[in-house]
Parts: sequence; C-alpha cells; structure tokens
Amino acid sequence: MTHPHNIIAIVYDFDHTLSPHYMQDHTILRHAGIDPRKFWPSCTTLIHEKGYDQELAYMKRLLEHEAIRALSNQDLKNMGADLTFFPGVPDCFEELNALFTPQEYEELGIRLEHYVVSSGLKAILDGSRIAQYVKAIFGCEFDEDDGHISFPKRTISHTQKTQFLFRVNKGLLDLDQDVNDHMPEEMRRVPFRHMIYVGDGPTDVPCFTLMKKNGGFAVAVYNAEDDSRRSFEKCYQLAHHAERVHFMAPADYRAGSHLRLILEQHVKEIANGVIDERKQGVEKARVAAPTP
Ligand SMILES: [Mg+2]
Repeated sequence: MTHPHNIIAIVYDFDHTLSPHYMQDHTILRHAGIDPRKFWPSCTTLIHEKGYDQELAYMKRLLEHEAIRALSNQDLKNMGADLTFFPGVPDCFEELNALFTPQEYEELGIRLEHYVVSSGLKAILDGSRIAQYVKAIFGCEFDEDDGHISFPKRTISHTQKTQFLFRVNKGLLDLDQDVNDHMPEEMRRVPFRHMIYVGDGPTDVPCFTLMKKNGGFAVAVYNAEDDSRRSFEKCYQLAHHAERVHFMAPADYRAGSHLRLILEQHVKEIANGVIDERKQGVEKARVAAPTP
C-alpha cells in the first residue's frame, strides 16, 4: 500500500537543543544531591580509562548512588515536570501545527508531527511538559527490579540515533518492529525530504548527515546566552567548516525568531510541494483519460 506522503516530521534532540541543560542535572542529580560539575567528569573518566560508551558511563555512575538506585521509573517520570526549556518551548509545537489550519492543507490531510530522540533518559522526558505535544520520545531506559531502577535496558548512542530517524521515516515507532526490514520508498510514512532534524552539536552529526544525504533538512541551534561562546562555536564548525547543516540559529523557539522563520518557511515549502505534486497528479490523470 502506498502512503499519501502528507506528513511532515520535525525530530528534535533534547539536551542543549530544546533545553539549555542536561536533563539529569535538574532532576535525578538534584534529587540525590550530586553536583553535576563533579558527576559529568566522573563519566568522562570511565569513557577514557575503561572505554565505556558515553550512555552506559552515565547510567553506571547514576546507579552507583543509593539514593538513585532507590528510585523507580515512575519517580524519574515525576521529576520530568521540573525540566526547563529554551524560550518558546513547548508553545512552539502547537503554534507550528497551526500552520496547517488553512483549508487547502486540511483537504489533503497535510499535518506536522514532532519527535524527540535523545541519549538522555526517556522516563524523564515522558514526564515533561513536552510529552503531550510529541508523537514519540526515544531515549535510554532503565529496567526495574522490585520497583527500583536496576540496569540499562536500552541505550541510544549518537550513532544509534539515526535508527530512530529511519523509524519515523518508515512509520515503525513500535520498537518490536524491525527497522531494517526493506520497505519501498512509496510505502514509507514520512519521506526523508519531509523530515527536519534539529540538534546542537557533534553528537548530532550522524543525524544531520543522514538528513542531508537523503534530501532532509538539518538545523543546528546554539545557546545565545552561553557567554563562553562554546555553544555558538560548535554550531559554527558544523555549519561553516563541516557543511553538516543547512542553517544555524539561536535556540529560541518563539514566534518571529530566526529559528521559527527557518522552520516555518521550510515546513510550508514542503507542504506546498505536496499540494503541487497532487495537482500535477490530477493533471496527468486527466491527460491520460481516454477520449470518448
Ligand atoms: Mg544535544
């Protein structure tokens, strides 16, 4: 069955893309009284000295604390309510969806979907204010034993993040479904040319690259409030020297901001392309109709 290809998807990284912080800082670490300035370097030590994957390193370090081992996934979800975001989040999701209220879009069922793919913890994001606006959240997960978080059940490294772009592309959001199964282009739910990826740095490079290679759109955001300029410099490298992204903009999601103008313009361009394709399809069908 072919898909009408009337869906546009924006996929967001979370830490430093939708939020100026690492999600663990104001939730799980604050709860356990752990200083993030000590916690993150201790993860880096595991990575450098023992060859840990980044995500397994922070999950191990979290589980080393009794106060954290006592938590359940529901506790993590409850902490998600404390997450804070860049300006304009989460209002931007519904405001962007509202671009599709004109009748010509509604008639063709053209609509926007939002997704989050993060190497942080899915349970925290599930409890955050953004959860109600996004179609799916993918992130690292802990298993539980006797109601307490116990062992990493799933990790999503920055290279594995691309798997989730294919899940959005193929419409295989259920993790039981094998994303590697072959699926012809016309059956895929959201073509890559209808997808936008928003990220903030080198960990998003595999996703940016996948987007650019397949006709998708890649946008890098930076924290304009970061006086050290590190956030800006990361983006500048990606945009200028590595040509990984189409645009870079401050992480300000409010109406009228540079980022919103870029996102809205591109989303509308995709939507108008869908309308044009449909019109051309109708024209072709008309020409092909047999004459009496
Ligand atoms: Mg990030």
